[in-house]
Amino acid sequence: MNYNRQDYLKNVKRVVIKVGSSGITHSNGLINFNKMEHLCQQIADIHNRGIEIIFVSSGAIGAGMGKLMFKERPRTIPEKQAAAAVGQGILIHLYEKMFSEYGITIAQILLTREDMGSKNRYLNGRFALSALIEKNVIPIINENDAISVEEIKFGDNDNLSALVACMVEADLLIILSDIDGLYDKNPSLFTDASIINFVDKIDKSIEEFAGGTLSNVGTGGMITKIRAARVSTSSGIPMIIAKSDEPYVLDKILSFNDLGTFFKPKIVPLKKEKRWIAFASKANGSILIDDGAKNALTEHHKSLLPSGILNISGNFSHRDVVNIIDTKNKIIARGITNYSSSDLEKIKGIKTGDIEKVLGIKNYNEVIHCDNLVII
Ligand code: ADP
Repeated sequence: MNYNRQDYLKNVKRVVIKVGSSGITHSNGLINFNKMEHLCQQIADIHNRGIEIIFVSSGAIGAGMGKLMFKERPRTIPEKQAAAAVGQGILIHLYEKMFSEYGITIAQILLTREDMGSKNRYLNGRFALSALIEKNVIPIINENDAISVEEIKFGDNDNLSALVACMVEADLLIILSDIDGLYDKNPSLFTDASIINFVDKIDKSIEEFAGGTLSNVGTGGMITKIRAARVSTSSGIPMIIAKSDEPYVLDKILSFNDLGTFFKPKIVPLKKEKRWIAFASKANGSILIDDGAKNALTEHHKSLLPSGILNISGNFSHRDVVNIIDTKNKIIARGITNYSSSDLEKIKGIKTGDIEKVLGIKNYNEVIHCDNLVII
C-alpha cells in the first residue's frame, strides 16, 4: 500500500473538528473542565498557526444533565430538549470563557436538519460561516436539540460535522472520540480487536466493523462516524478519527503523526454543486423509472427523460429534490426535477418531442438534467 498521510495533510488550511460528549464530560455526564480546557488550548494553538477552524461540539445534553440532576441520559424528547436548552448555555459560556483567555472570539451556530435541507438556508449558512472565518472567529456549531424533533434531526453530530465540512469546503475533518480510531470489531466488547490505521475505501467490510456505543454519554457509536466518513471522503475531504484524550492530539495530527484512523478522500470527488443534492437536501417525492432509464443514468451518466418514467409519488414542485427509484424499489439516484409531480403525471412514459403537445409548453427536454443528478 502506497500511503503517506503527509501527502494528504500538508496543504490543510481549513479544518472542521468535532468532539463527542465524552471528549468534554465525565462518564457521569458532568463537564470535565480539564479535558475541555486542554481541547480549547489545542484549538487556540492551531488557530494561531493560521489554520481556520470550525468546531462542532456535542455535550449540551450532558452539560444540562448535570445541572438538572439527571442520573442518566434523558430518554424522552421533552427531557432531552430541556437538558439541551439548559446545557447549551452552559457549554457556550464555558467555551467563551476558555477561548477568550487565548484572545479568541467564538460564535455560536445552532443548526437543524431543515437548515441544511433547503438550498437557500444551506447557502446562507455557508455565507455566515465564511464571514466568521474571515473575521478570525471560531464558529462553534451544535445541533439545535432544544427545538429538534425526530423528523428534523441530524441525529448525531458526526453527520452534522461531515455536512458542515462539505458546506465550508474544508480540507480536513477530524472526529475526536472516546476511542482512538476504528477497530476491526467493537473494542469495548472484544479484547482482541485491532485498530485500522488507514481506510482506502468505505465498503461493506468497513461498515460491518462498526457497532453502536456502550457509553453513557456517547450517542452514535462507530456507525455514524463511518457514515460521516462516506460523506466527507466522497466530497474529497479526508477524515481522521482520533482519541480526544490523547495529549496534543490536534498538533500531532497536523504534524502528520500516524495516529487514529485515516479515511482517504476520493480521487474524483463529487462536484461541489452536487454535494448538497447528495447529502444535505431533503427529497420531496420520488420517481419510479424503468430498467432502460436506470441503465442510461447509472452506466452512461445521461439525464432522465420522461419516456423512462413509470410512476410518481409525493407532491413536489419544479426545482424540488426527488429520489429516483428502480423497479426493485431501491433508491438509485437523487436529483433536482425540472417538472412538478402534477406535470410528470401527464408526461410520464411519453417521448420528449411530445411534451409540448401534452403540457402546451416545453420548458425542458430533461426531467432531471445530469448536472443536477447524483447516482447513489
Ligand atoms: P463519541 O461520543 O466520542 O462520538 P461514541 O461513544 O458515540 O463516541 O462512539 C465511540 C464508541 O463506538 C466506542 O467507544 C466503542 O464503544 C464503539 N464502537 C463500536 N464499534 C467500534 C469499532 N469497530 N471500533 C471502534 N469503536 C467502536
